[in-house]
Amino acid sequence: MVIPVYAEIAHNPGAWVDRHTVLVVEDNDTSRKLACTLLELRGFDTLAAGSVEDAVALAVEHLPALILMDIQLPDQDGVTALARLRADSRTTSIPVVALTAYAMAGDRERLLAKGFDAYLSKPIDVHTFVDGLADLIAAGQ
Ligand code: MN
Repeated sequence: MVIPVYAEIAHNPGAWVDRHTVLVVEDNDTSRKLACTLLELRGFDTLAAGSVEDAVALAVEHLPALILMDIQLPDQDGVTALARLRADSRTTSIPVVALTAYAMAGDRERLLAKGFDAYLSKPIDVHTFVDGLADLIAAGQ
């Protein structure tokens, strides 16, 4: 199956994705840099935050097309961050993807029930990480 948005990118690389910014919220330096690098290699602009306070401030200022949200962060947790973003009319409709190392059964369902648009588990898979994020961005427009 060819997903239309991917076909559009394939035929006109850069023209579609370059206009889009992804905010990566992750306090682990290695994971944050890897996520940003993989996104940039696919033509996205990135913003990075290592705390909930920085993430909310960047989200309000830049209105990114998508937010990747770690769950365990030094100041508050990612679920609280999501609630704050959803409570603000400026950021309420931005898709937010949970990015977490939690591996317990039921965690995915628990996070989706909290209102995350999707769930990605760490460690980041360099081959599949960005696939599907473009779909979420398109759906959020
Ligand atoms: Mn963390």
